[in-house]
Amino acid sequence: MPVLVMKFGGTSVATLDRIRRAAKRVGLEVAKGYDVIVIVSAMSGKTNELVGWVNETSPLFDAREYDAVVSSGENVTAGLMALTLQEMDVPARSWQGWQVPLKTTSAHSSARIEDIPTDNINRKFGEGMQVAVVAGFQGISPEGRITTLGRGGSDTTAVAFAAAFGAERCDIYTDVDGVYTTDPRVCDRARKMDRIAFEEMLELASLGAKVLQTRSVELAMRYKVKLRVLSSFEEPSDTAGTLVCDEEDIMESNVVAGVAHSRDEAKMTLVSVADRPGIAAAIFTPLSEAGVNVDMIVQNISEEGRTDMTFSCPTDQVKRAQKALDDAKAKGDINFMDLVADTGVAKVSVVGIGMRSHTGVAAKMFKVLSSEGINIKVITTSEIKISVLIDRKYMELAVQSLHDAFELEKST
Ligand code: ADP
Ligand code: ASP
Ligand code: MG
Repeated sequence: MPVLVMKFGGTSVATLDRIRRAAKRVGLEVAKGYDVIVIVSAMSGKTNELVGWVNETSPLFDAREYDAVVSSGENVTAGLMALTLQEMDVPARSWQGWQVPLKTTSAHSSARIEDIPTDNINRKFGEGMQVAVVAGFQGISPEGRITTLGRGGSDTTAVAFAAAFGAERCDIYTDVDGVYTTDPRVCDRARKMDRIAFEEMLELASLGAKVLQTRSVELAMRYKVKLRVLSSFEEPSDTAGTLVCDEEDIMESNVVAGVAHSRDEAKMTLVSVADRPGIAAAIFTPLSEAGVNVDMIVQNISEEGRTDMTFSCPTDQVKRAQKALDDAKAKGDINFMDLVADTGVAKVSVVGIGMRSHTGVAAKMFKVLSSEGINIKVITTSEIKISVLIDRKYMELAVQSLHDAFELEKST
């Protein structure tokens, strides 16, 4: 039997009614002759609540216990989905990550998938089971502890299952009907794309477009998984949604494909550090050991052997970063006068493969922001993206005016 992977995100399983609705869609695919692997997220809002409980209990938590708590939301939905399918006379059962077992690294709260043995589930398919419901977002470490794959990780569970089982397609059901030129909640002129290239989707995802977790796009690209994003609230159709595909499969595309934003950014500045060989390593090694995801880095021009070093990281990692740097200072590994944390910033980025061959995108982006009176705090670029850090209060305005200036509501 051909295998299909269907993933339902939090809003698509937010209530028992919605689980029934999702289960009906699964039933339609079963009727077409597929063996279906359903990956479920926690009910909408559940994971945030669990994360909140952990933070309140222990601000610098033990990541192993964080995973034990936050993975639990998915267990509930997996069981409920299996029960709903059984009520519809569709033979189904649930699996938690460790039961598969979905094997991961031991990097708690951001573990990477290492292996998904298929024998267990395939044996059940062979015995007449038609749907395997798997709790997304979770796995098991070599030490036998529960791990999670980072926020939004059920997308990655879905793509990894599609790759492991050689699925015909991986359908990601969510609360929007596809991938848009920018977040449709921020800009009402956002346009749904029928297709988007893997590389552009990868950049948009890593720059904050949370419609797909970055790692899921990486895996789909590597294992050539046919990946589709579509709404669980619209009528089923074969052409619905957005197909994430190879660049060669897209006829025409705009120079800029989309605008991404990331609200939860913080800018940290180490004031007056010694400008000597090895200083960057002395600062960023303890940060990486503490699990801080440093993104943008800027070193100022030095004066009299001292310089300021600025970097950005997610807001929820500021305390961790401060502790790592204070500890390094106490040990004498680094010396700085002050550590200033600005937690009121956001990152806005424009992305497009066309930038490889077109100049002037950066100049236009900076001009648009300046004409809106938005000050740029940090800039980074790569071959196909330009990102800026700005005050968070201007984030929506920046996204909307860039979307207009690059005429993204029109397709070429
Ligand atoms: P799920 O719970 O189904 O995994 P998410 O909330 O993780 O859903 O992702 C879907 C959300 O991603 C949408 O509601 C939308 O606000 C947001 N989003 C951000 N950027 C984009 C984009 N470019 N296209 C579509 N959705 C986007
Ligand atoms: N429930 C997890 C989260 O909210 C995983 C997911 O939904 O993909 O991050
Ligand atoms: Mg998601």
